[in-house]
Formats: sequence, structure tokens, C-alpha cells
Amino acid sequence: MGDVLVYDIPLRTRFRGLLRRDGVLLRGDAGWAEFSPFWDYDAAESSAWWRAAREAADEGWPAAVRDSVPVNVTVPAVGPELAHRIVTGSGGCRTAKVKVAERGQSVDDEIARLEAVRDAIGPDGAIRVDANAAWDLETAVERLALLDRAAGGLEYAEQPVPAVDELARLRRRTHVPIAADESIRRAQDPLAVARAEAADVVVLKVQPLGGVRACLELAERIGLPVVVSSALETSVGLAAGVALAAALPDLPYACGLATAQLLTADVVAEPLLPVDGALPVRRPDVVAARVPTADDDLAAQWVARIGAVEHHLRADGDGVDHARDQA
Ligand SMILES: [Mg+2]
Repeated sequence: MGDVLVYDIPLRTRFRGLLRRDGVLLRGDAGWAEFSPFWDYDAAESSAWWRAAREAADEGWPAAVRDSVPVNVTVPAVGPELAHRIVTGSGGCRTAKVKVAERGQSVDDEIARLEAVRDAIGPDGAIRVDANAAWDLETAVERLALLDRAAGGLEYAEQPVPAVDELARLRRRTHVPIAADESIRRAQDPLAVARAEAADVVVLKVQPLGGVRACLELAERIGLPVVVSSALETSVGLAAGVALAAALPDLPYACGLATAQLLTADVVAEPLLPVDGALPVRRPDVVAARVPTADDDLAAQWVARIGAVEHHLRADGDGVDHARDQA
């Protein structure tokens, strides 16, 4: 293994219950890679993230078929004024993903947010919502009708309900297209969504699904349009998502890769930030002097984590193809 750095970066606002993001940057023959599973992922689940990092460091990625990737701005569960500002300050994004189903908020809060986002993005912009599996089926049917009207038309609703069979039933009761996210990336069987005809779109994330090649294979087997999203990475991890989006034969939707601005710092000279609503297809190099490095304690925890993942993969016998067997 070549250079290894452990980063520790505060977030601009709380996201996924987190105030900071940390992870490992490592350099192999093919370039810099990021390994940054969230701390609630054990060694077994983190092993897919490690395969993605080894692919980036050792092999690099398949050839791109496009040189830029359209991206969405993400609007957290904030008030309408801030939602408006986030969209207008997004670097020209023509698609907004709006978080809904936030605990403690009412449908009126969601309607106000969506109206503000429509006002900011204009009549030609696309608006999608993400409920992170928080609704039950009946709530989802009702809410989507209201929110679709408030938004002046929704592009799709991401994971409105938790279970695959509920997604399938919901899909028959709403004209809003359905996207599957959690049902793919944390599922034992990511193909169940396709078999059940439970979604119109699937969200793929490179690290949790074991790398760019694993995602390309999965996309082919699922046979539905793909939206590539990040796992809240630095620009090094985002570059892997960009590589996947760039290599997919078709890319009909904007991707969720404009998340570098959620971090207060980055680890490269030119972070992957949107210009005219798109990210360039490139692979930035780490500038070691820019990396907000972790203290010794946190760095030691990451070394132990990598050791646990490698041990898990050895115990598994193959270390390479386990997730593909499942996929
Ligand atoms: Mg989601």
C-alpha cells in the first residue's frame, strides 16, 4: 500500500445525524481512493466499501462515454427561504432533490418547501423528493398527491416506503414515478426491486455496492434507469461516483453527486463542485497539505477497521467476488 491519510472534516449542517465526516484516503498504482463506511457499518458491510476503494486505488475505472455528469442540488428539511437560497446558489443545478418526511414537520412545511423550490428552479426545472423510507403505504399515497401538486409535478419520489412489496403496491396507486434507494444498497437481494416491478428508477452508490464495475454489472442486471449518488464523500470518493455515471450507457436523470459543499473542507486542489449544473468527468489528486487530518486516536481506529475488514474478507475465503454472487 502506498500513501495513507485519515481525514476528519466537520459538516456544514447536520446530515444523517452526523456533524463530522471521517475516512481513509489511500494511493495505489491507479490513483487515490477513499474508504469511508459510516461507523454503524460492521466489518461485513464495510467490506463492499473496501472493495470499492481497492478498485479505485489498484485498477482504476472503465472508460467514460461522456465528459460531464448533470447533478441535482439537495435541499434538506429546511424552511422555504433557505430552500430557495440553496437552489439559487447551487451552481446552476436544473434538478432539486428535496428531503421530506422529516420527524416533527407537517405536510404544510413540505408544501411550503416545495413551492419555494419550484419558484427558485423555474418551470423547466425538475423536482424529486426523498422520504428515506419514512412513510407507510397509505400516508405515501396521500402525501405524494399533495406534494406532486405543490411541486407543480414531481420527477420521482425516492424510497417513500421501506419494503419492496410496498413500493410495488404504491407504484400502482400513484402516477408519481418511484425510485428505490435503501431497497438496493442495504438489501440482501438488490434484484428484488426489479423482479417485483417496484421502481421506475434505481439509486446506486459506489462504495456500499462494492465499486464501479460491480455497479455497472448490477445496473445491467436490474435493467432500470440509474441515478448515481454519493455517500457524503470528499472529492476523492465522489470521483468514483462520477466515473460510474460517466460509464453508464444511458444517464437520463441528474445524479446526486453535488455533495462536496456539504463538507466544510476538501482534500483536493479543485473540489468536484457543479458548474452549470454538471460535474466534469475527472479524477482529482489529493493535496496532502490540504487534508484536515484525524488525531492519533481516530487514525488508530481506522487502521483497526481496515484490519477487521481484511480479516473478514480472508475469513470469507475469496475477498473479491462475494457481493457479486449476491448481486
Ligand atoms: Mg435516498
